[in-house]
This record gives sequence, C-alpha cells and structure tokens, in this order.
Amino acid sequence: MRAILIGGGIGGLAAALALSRRGVAVTVLEKSPVLGEAGAGLQLGPNATRVLFDLGLGESLVAKAFAPESAEIRAASDQSLLLRNTLGASAVARWGAPYLQLHRADLQALLHDAVLAAGCEMRLGAAVVRIDQDEARVRVILSEGGSLEGDFAVGCDGVRSGVRQSLFGTGAPRFTGQVAWRGMVPADHLPRGTVPPVAAVWAGPGRHFVHYYVRGGQAVNFVGVVERDWREESWTEPGDPAELQADFAGWPPVVTAICAAVTSPFRWALFDRPPLPTWTQGRVTLLGDAAHPMLPFLAQGAAMAIEDAAVLAHQVGGAADIPGALLAYQGDRLARTRRVQEASRFNARLFHLPMAVGRAAFAAAGLADSLHPGGTAARFDWLYGYKAP
Ligand SMILES: Cc1cc2nc3c(=O)[nH]c(=O)nc-3n(C[C@H](O)[C@H](O)[C@H](O)COP(=O)(O)OP(=O)(O)OC[C@H]3O[C@@H](n4cnc5c(N)ncnc54)[C@H](O)[C@@H]3O)c2cc1C
Repeated sequence: MRAILIGGGIGGLAAALALSRRGVAVTVLEKSPVLGEAGAGLQLGPNATRVLFDLGLGESLVAKAFAPESAEIRAASDQSLLLRNTLGASAVARWGAPYLQLHRADLQALLHDAVLAAGCEMRLGAAVVRIDQDEARVRVILSEGGSLEGDFAVGCDGVRSGVRQSLFGTGAPRFTGQVAWRGMVPADHLPRGTVPPVAAVWAGPGRHFVHYYVRGGQAVNFVGVVERDWREESWTEPGDPAELQADFAGWPPVVTAICAAVTSPFRWALFDRPPLPTWTQGRVTLLGDAAHPMLPFLAQGAAMAIEDAAVLAHQVGGAADIPGALLAYQGDRLARTRRVQEASRFNARLFHLPMAVGRAAFAAAGLADSLHPGGTAARFDWLYGYKAP
C-alpha cells in the first residue's frame, strides 16, 4: 500500500512515520526546497507527546525540549495570578506523558530524521498542483511536470491548503483582526532569572503575550497578539522590533525585556476558518491545519496534527477498503478537532477582555476548580488525557 502525503510540516512528517510503522510505504512531497528554520516555538501537550513517545521519539524529544513547571495566566496590569495549571511531574502522573516546549525546527528535524530512517521517500522542492483519482488509485501531479501514483493521498499542506480548496472549495477565511508577533531570544541575551520556568500568558485588554523556554532553556520563545488590521499568514514574514516594543510598552518587565532583546521578530495575521463538516473524498483526505486550522490560543494546532497522524495510521494500516478507512479516520477526528477549534476561539475572546471582566471570569473559573477534586488540572483532562491509538 502506498500513501502520498502532500506537505512535510509537523503533520505530514508525523503521518509519514506513523503510517510507515504500520507497514505503509510513504512518499512525502514538500514544496519547499529545504525544511526551514522557522523561528517559532511549539508547546506540545501530553496528548501529543504521548504519540511521539509511542513512535519511538521520546528520548530525542526530551533532549531538545523544555518541560515547564506550570502554565500560568496573569493580568498584565498588576501581574496578579489569574490561573495556574501545575505541569512538570504532575502532568506525567495525571495524563501519562510530559508537557513539552520545543523549537519548531527541532521537532521538524527530529521527525524528518526518523522518517528517513524508517525508509520513507522524501521529495523536497516538489509542489503538488492537482490530484486525480479513480476507484483504484490516486495520481498526484507536480508543478515541475511528472506525476506519482498511490493507493491514497493526504493533504497535509497547512492552513492555506490547496488540496482542501480543490476538494471542498471552502472559500475565503475570516480575518480575526488579530496579528501574532512571534520570535525567539537566546536566554543568555536576557538578564539571568528574568524568565521563570513556566508557560506564561499575560492578558490585557485587546492584546496578550505568551513566553516559554525551548531547547532545554537555551532560548525563549514568545508570541504577542495584538488587535490590528494587517493580513499576511506566514512563518517567515518579518516585523519591525521597534513596532513590537511599542505594542508592549509599559507591560511587565519580563515582557519588555524579551521585546527589547529580540532582533528579528516575525508576524502572522490570524485568520479563522469554520470547522469543515467533512474532509475526505474517496481516496483523498486531509490532516492537520489543512483539515482543521485553528487559532493558536490553546497551543494545540500541531498537537491535533500529531493526533491525526496516529489515528490515520491506525485506521489505514492493513485496511482492505481504503476509502472506508479514510472515512473512519475522519469520523474519529471530527468532533474532537471541532471542540479544540472552538475552545481556541473561546480563549481568543477570554484573553483580550477588559481586565475587570476578565478577572471576574478567571475568579469564577478558579472558584469552580477549587471545589473540584481534580482542581484546575481536571479542566484539561478532556484535552491532555486523550489517548490516540
Ligand atoms: C503564532 C502561532 C503559535 C502556535 N503555537 C502552537 C503551539 O504552541 N502548539 C501547537 O500544537 N500548535 C501551535 N501552533 C499551530 C501549529 O504551528 C500548526 O497547527 C502546525 O504547524 C500545523 O502543521 P501542519 O503540518 O498541518 O501544517 P504546516 O506546518 O503549515 O505544514 C504544511 C506544509 O505543506 C507544504 N505545502 C503547502 N502546499 C504544498 C503543495 N502544494 N505541495 C507540496 N507541499 C506543500 C508547506 O510548505 C508546509 O511545509 C501555532 C501557530 C501559530 C500561528
């Protein structure tokens, strides 16, 4: 059985590895000539790290990652704590796998090495322009000419998926009015002790700022979201450090220190796309952002792509009826990914509320958590406790 995966991002690479572990021959077609060093971090909840451990990547993952003690939400105005979720060893004890933070390029490189070692074919600089299918095969057409045949194809081609567009023509996304600043600062460019070992969210009216360590604490990743009309969706769109500093002027010292230390920030305009009712047609399906793009406010986009990979491989590995197996994969994923998309959207509103309203919302949540036997951690059981096959 041969799978053709379109896109070699986190989702495409995780799917290649998971499928090859189930005996499927895989070709990955990635349009970029190199797997880039996109200067961005990723938080991976236990729901995703569990899958990577199952795929045999646990040791190398931990070596590249940083495990935060907790996730904290604080008010930017007075630095008061609004919500804390204890992670570290507690995350492993409760959800069976660690909560980790990584440089995106490290995770991509680690998956890429594993994919090559597993014998998958990886073609860089191979942009797909069309997919044809009949009852028995798919044929994938490349922009440089030439084509490949396989038993099924998966569009892992990201938030602006051409495969999704060609199958379902889902139309234009809705601009949220929010722009994410992103970047990475070497930890030794910041005064010692500035950045605590937590996944931190600073909330303020109309904007918020997230920071956390990656690479065993050698670098600090940040995401700063502001409400602004500017509309480019890209990992590599540069921004002006002075503009970033102005956006967060007067914020807590850790935030202004990070903004002052960053030399080349990037910007990503945040677009929202409604959940799809279906993302499979015959022998072609979608995975990751192509299937269920989401706002980054729950830090789960890549995690959902990794979960998809495990479920897809589980359904397809050894299946005689491939269209049926692809529909079963979609059936297993639709409700969960929709819930995560909606929860991410909810956080987008929560983080940017006027402070009095936001504080009341977090106080109510904290009170509810204190009455619950599992405390705040129980709030995340549905998300982090999910066990992909
Ligand atoms: C600011 C920000 C912060 C985030 N933080 C987190 C986080 O903390 N945790 C988390 O889990 N997620 C996070 N995410 C989301 C996460 O980055 C994405 O969900 C994830 O990268 C999706 O992976 P993917 O493989 O589906 O798509 P991508 O990583 O976008 O990969 C798609 C690949 O397909 C290739 N491609 C596209 N078209 C073609 C074609 N025609 N032919 C061949 N190749 C093609 C592209 O070159 C690309 O390599 C964040 C996102 C943003 C914007």
